[in-house]
Amino acid sequence: MKRETVVVLDFGGQYNQLIARRVRECGVYCEIHSYRTEPEKIKALQPKGIILTGGPNSCYDPGAPSCDPALFSLGIPVLGICYGAQLMMNLLGGTVERACMREYGRIEIAVDTECELFAGVSPRTVCWMSHNDYIRTPAPGFQICAVSSHCPVAAAEDSERRLYAVQFHPEVLHTAEGSRMIANFVLRICGCAGDWKMDAFAREAIAQIREKVGSGKALCALSGGVDSSVAAVLMARAIGTQLTCVFVDHGLLRKDEGDDVEAVFGPAGEYDLNFIRVDAKDRFYEKLRGVTDPEKKRRIIGEEFIRVFEEEAKKIGAVDYLVQGTIYPDVVESGMGGESAVIKSHHNVGGLPANVDFREIIEPLRTLFKDEVRAVGMELGLPRHLVMRQPFPGPGLGVRILGEVTPEKVHMVQEADAIWREEIARAGWDEKVNQYFAALTDIRTVGVMGDERTYDYAIALRAVTTSDFMTAESAQIPWEILQKATSRIVNEVPHINRVFYDCTGKPPATVELE
Ligand code: GLN
Repeated sequence: MKRETVVVLDFGGQYNQLIARRVRECGVYCEIHSYRTEPEKIKALQPKGIILTGGPNSCYDPGAPSCDPALFSLGIPVLGICYGAQLMMNLLGGTVERACMREYGRIEIAVDTECELFAGVSPRTVCWMSHNDYIRTPAPGFQICAVSSHCPVAAAEDSERRLYAVQFHPEVLHTAEGSRMIANFVLRICGCAGDWKMDAFAREAIAQIREKVGSGKALCALSGGVDSSVAAVLMARAIGTQLTCVFVDHGLLRKDEGDDVEAVFGPAGEYDLNFIRVDAKDRFYEKLRGVTDPEKKRRIIGEEFIRVFEEEAKKIGAVDYLVQGTIYPDVVESGMGGESAVIKSHHNVGGLPANVDFREIIEPLRTLFKDEVRAVGMELGLPRHLVMRQPFPGPGLGVRILGEVTPEKVHMVQEADAIWREEIARAGWDEKVNQYFAALTDIRTVGVMGDERTYDYAIALRAVTTSDFMTAESAQIPWEILQKATSRIVNEVPHINRVFYDCTGKPPATVELE
């Protein structure tokens, strides 16, 4: 089955992943490729449309990223965004220059609603601008179809050749009607049906895995996180007992988390696979004894995780495939999908095991964004609490216990965290905040309980809202919820006599405390 594809050509802009997301929100599959990709290769993908992203350069500078002008005569609709728009104009005979008034932020534009790109959009609409250069005159054949007070060409179209250029960024949410514009491009102009749905994805993926693995064996490291759980389910549906899942319980999981994972994937669950739960708590606590430096703790946990996994793998013997829960943002951040700098080389804590005997890595979720991974999980019947689970760091509670980790402290933070999550959920705030947890500080303070002096630990509560997890704001949790959680924590969790709420955003803080 040939699926409809839109190709995003990446010129190094900040929002390239968002563009792909918006396209997929229209039900159309989308891939990001570097601007260096040859037109022949792009053509071979048979895209229904091409989008050129923004970028930091000026298109008239010598050596600035460019593309083959042949791209504009393939008969495939092209939408240029910001740098992409400027480049399109420059290559086709328009003029692009340094603007005397640069625009940055929310800017109102007046649009021609006769233009297909702006069908159904308000005649005056707010959009997000971020540019120093501007299009002074559009290329021959183009009509101006939007202006701002400083931009004579905020958008231009050549409806004959189906080429579109917008100076602003429709992909960011600050562009009030940006999603509609992208939908207009993808569905109306490119004529996509918008039938890329997760049930089809799951069906195709299962068939492909079956074909690829044949009668071979696969091994999956299951962390209980969303990505590895969904990857494991897809594999289990495809190859059943040819799959072995190793779940390393490092003793730094949230309260009851190990049992939750086992309930789904273990012998009592609905999948017929080989599930191995390794209780490695003591090993991890032993290694962490006396260690207080956050980076050192992270490293120890990552390395020990790999060691335990390798030992289990050795017992199983050679396998054909090692399953990884890599998702599309990991691929793009590794510098493989587009132009963005290498942010991390791969996403698993501590990297790949060196001593596991496997032939090939299999990454069934490689093309999906997080929300799509969740949709596949729901589609495959994974319980909602596993699928909607908030992000949890690989080193687990190890980085939510400030300073030295001990089994007693793990217990304290697990209990406090469970209460905090329960109260947030009970108040209906679990859908309003994106991440919320408790951390155990390394501070002991004086308190009084039952007329007796206490000298005990302080818990820090955290709740943040974010749309991208790159920046975050501290959530304005109503006082009643904070008060209720505080009183329950000090009453129910021994050795906690004080509770703080973290009011800092990211930046300057990070979401996790260590
Ligand atoms: N660098 C170009 C400019 O300053 C394009 C910016 C962008 O794509 N956001 O105008």
